[in-house]
Amino acid sequence: MTTDCLFCKIAAGHIPAEKLYEDDELLAFRDIAPQAPVHFLVIPKKHIQDPTGVAKEDEGLIGRMMRTGSKVARENGITDFRLVFNNGAEAGQTVFHIHMHVLGGRSLNWPPG
Ligand code: IMP
Repeated sequence: MTTDCLFCKIAAGHIPAEKLYEDDELLAFRDIAPQAPVHFLVIPKKHIQDPTGVAKEDEGLIGRMMRTGSKVARENGITDFRLVFNNGAEAGQTVFHIHMHVLGGRSLNWPPG
């Protein structure tokens, strides 16, 4: 755990979150400022700063994030959804612990802003 990281604190249970799924490696929880009727985040409990910080040994973990996000999306009633990883402030990343947004429940525009 990185002590000054918000999502490490959520993963450790030190800050509350509306959890949708949890196992030893991953946590899914609702975004505090939802941008769609269904908007949740999937994070690894391990601290990885951003997509560029994904090591070869993490490849399975990132695959599990996708599988878990898809499963939780289905459990929350959506079959069409968008998965988003922001990498870097210019791309919109505000929390520097890798996370996958899962958004759905409405028509989504392309390209995003
Ligand atoms: P980013 O902009 O891709 O880094 O996404 C960070 C996301 O985390 C944003 O959508 C925020 O609304 C969300 N967020 C920030 N703090 C919390 C929190 O305490 N609980 C749940 N979501 C949060």
